[in-house]
This record gives sequence, structure tokens and C-alpha cells, in this order.
Amino acid sequence: MDRPDIHNRPDLCNRPDLYNLSFDALKDLLVSWGQPAFRAKQIRTQLYQKLSSDPAEMSDLPKALRERLATETHIGGLTLKRVFKGDGGLTRKALFAFPDGVVVEAVLMIYPKRATVCVSSQAGCPMGCVFCATAKLGHLHDLTPGMMVQQVLWAAREIEAVRAEFDPHDKAASRHRLTRDSLPTHLTNVVYMGMGEPFNNYDNWYGSVERLHDPDGFNMGARSFTVSTVGLVPGILKLAEAPLQINLAISLHTARDEERSALMPVNRKFPIADLMQAVRDYTAKTRRRVSFEYVLLAEKNDTPEEAEELADLLTRGGKMLCHVNLIPWNPVSGTNLARSTRGRVTAFRDILEARGISATIRIQRGADIDAACGQLAGSSA
Ligand code: SAH
Repeated sequence: MDRPDIHNRPDLCNRPDLYNLSFDALKDLLVSWGQPAFRAKQIRTQLYQKLSSDPAEMSDLPKALRERLATETHIGGLTLKRVFKGDGGLTRKALFAFPDGVVVEAVLMIYPKRATVCVSSQAGCPMGCVFCATAKLGHLHDLTPGMMVQQVLWAAREIEAVRAEFDPHDKAASRHRLTRDSLPTHLTNVVYMGMGEPFNNYDNWYGSVERLHDPDGFNMGARSFTVSTVGLVPGILKLAEAPLQINLAISLHTARDEERSALMPVNRKFPIADLMQAVRDYTAKTRRRVSFEYVLLAEKNDTPEEAEELADLLTRGGKMLCHVNLIPWNPVSGTNLARSTRGRVTAFRDILEARGISATIRIQRGADIDAACGQLAGSSA
């Protein structure tokens, strides 16, 4: 297998990661070992339904096969280093390491009847957005499909711990309106909004969705996935043609080209007009509503004029099938930016609403463990 990242662990170099194998590839591997093909089904059930992370747990397999799996494959290309708990245990961040020590993070967020995991698609990020902590790392590694699957299955497993440790009398429980009855029992949403740019690692990203979508495996509905992009036009157009109907979010952050280029270098390559054309093509083709993310930076892009310009952009040429997600900026050190005041944020939302554009303010999660949007940089709290 082509695993250029595993260069200092010769023991793992040639071992397939079971999460990285498509079902057909898993079957091929087992058949090449002289095993009956139904063993692949058993292993898929173990990995994706029983959430086993060790062949030793796969008690329905013969002992010799368990041992062979343990010595000749591995489960997950990353090593789980630590889990940080925030918001009274209702937000949890997992720190995973590559064999060379580079880390990536995944964040699990618990809501009434809903559990969302925010997944990283790259270690670091090549896109260079000036307001984002991950960008400061540069591009370190692309994640394989299996490494993205690994983060999701960690979250699915972690929900058990959340339920076991839940204290309905804790302040965090009432703040997030959670009771024992409304605690989610399983993972409901996967958002590719962690470290990295998914469309800069498109095939691996889409491969992870395919593996998790498999109805005989983890069986996550296509609509439970959301992918967020800085606005890579080729990726948007490719997704429009993809067989799975995944939700699309676009990090827009301003309706002004010059300002966007200063905040997000990608805008020099794909300016707003090109981006909006791609989004319109996408909604025309898929009939799906897109979300626009808009990080609010004090005195930069949070003025009433900018809200009007955003409304103009989203209504020009016919009203667009969209929703705006306003994100008050989370502080990142080493920048001269500031978070918008609450008043500015609600005023911005009100202007959009008045113009007939649905808009919500994203509730902050995980700031106490450096897990909020734009804060993922491999730090430990
Ligand atoms: N690269 C993709 C996926 C990351 S999603 C993308 O940019 O869309 C992470 C979201 O958080 C993006 O909308 C990003 O712009 C936003 N973000 C980045 N830094 C932030 C910060 N410091 N505070 C709040 N949101 C931030």
C-alpha cells in the first residue's frame, strides 16, 4: 500500500490499515490468505457495528485469524494520544498522532438527540487563511480515508463514555439542555470541519465518506455528512456530480474580493464570482441547500454595510438556496484580529434575516480545550 507518511515505523509500512480498505479490498485480502469470503463480512461487522478496535475483541473469528490480523494488519493509521474533556464532558477532543509525531484532532460535540464529530482531513493546512490557527502549521500530511474513518469511529465509541459519565445536575448539562432522555445514543452527524481542506485531499476525503456510508457497515446516511471548503471550485463541481448527496458548506467570510483575498489567499485563484457560479451550478444540479460560513471579525467584516453586501451577493441573479452560519471569531494568538461584539453579531444576523436570508449564529463549543472552530493546532489544554 502506498503509505508515504509511515516512514519511521518500518513495522507498519507494509501492513494494511483495515479502516483504509474498501470492502472489496478486505475481501481480496482474506481470500489471498485462504479464508472464506464471509470472513470479510464478519470483520466489517466487528469494525463498523461492534466498533472493535482490536482483533482480540473479534470473538466470532477463529483464533488463528485474529492472530494473523494482529500481526499483519493494523486498525487505524493514527495513534490516539489523549482525550480532552470540555463543556463538562459534552465536548471532547481527541489528539491523534502520525508515526512521525505530527498530530491531528477530532472533536465530538453532544447535543440533545444529536452527536456530531468534527473530523480533520489534513494535518496542518496549505490554505493560509490568516485568522485560522491550523493554517499557521502549514501543510504537514494528507490523511488517508482510513485515518478519517478512525476519527469517526473514535467518536462513536466515545459516546458510550459520555453517557456513562453524564451528570444531569452539572451546570453544563442544563446549559446545553441535556437530560438523560435527550442524551444521544449514537453518532448522528459527521462534519469535515477540522484541520485541513477536504477538497485539497478530495479522493481520500470522499473515500472516507464511502466507507462510513456502507449500509452493511457503519451505515451513516449521506445527508448526515457535511463537508466544508475554503472555496476550491474544482471540488465543488466534482461534488455536484458525486453519487452521494453530502451537505456542502462554503467558508465565505466576506462578500468583498479584495478583503477576501487578504483573509484567504485562495480567493486570488478562485475569486468570489467564480466561487458563486460554482455554488449556483451545484445547487442547480443537486437541488440541495448550501451553507455559507462567515467568521465575524471586529471592524473588518462585521459592519452593517458588509451584511447588506452579503445579502446582495446571495440574492443577485435570483435567490439562492442557502443558509448563513455566522461564527464569532475564536481568538488565535499571533494575529491582530478581534472577536466581534455580541451586538454586532446579532445585528448582522438581523440584516440578513430582514433580507429573507436564513441565518444562525454558531454556538461555540470546546473553547476551554482549544477545540473551537479555527483553534485546532495540535495543542494540549
Ligand atoms: N478548510 C475548510 C474546513 C475547515 S472548517 C474550510 O475552511 O471550510 C473550519 C471553519 O472554521 C471554516 O469556516 C473556517 O473558516 C472557520 N474558522 C477558521 N478559523 C476560525 C476562528 N479562529 N474562529 C472561528 N472560525 C474559524
